[in-house]
Amino acid sequence: MARRTAPAGRDGTSHEHAAGGRSPLAAVAHLVAEAVRDSGARVLCFRCLAAQQGLSEHDVRAVALVLLARAGFELVRRACASCQRVEGVLVAQEVA
Ligand SMILES: [Zn+2]
Repeated sequence: MARRTAPAGRDGTSHEHAAGGRSPLAAVAHLVAEAVRDSGARVLCFRCLAAQQGLSEHDVRAVALVLLARAGFELVRRACASCQRVEGVLVAQEVA
């Protein structure tokens, strides 16, 4: 998922994917937010989102609460694009 749109080599402003293991919540929140935005209509349940990002489901649920508290994300009931279970999934709001 390397993007070439952002200027490279700037420290402090870009948070690269955190190394494996325990990630600070802010880094996890960033990962999840990016993943949700990138996924578009292909929404994933918390478990699949966690698996995709190499995170624990617990962490994903924790940051979901953080993201929901901010503008731009909402919890909706949809079928997961991966495991097909209908669950509450985190989606990015389209409208501003
Ligand atoms: Zn799933």
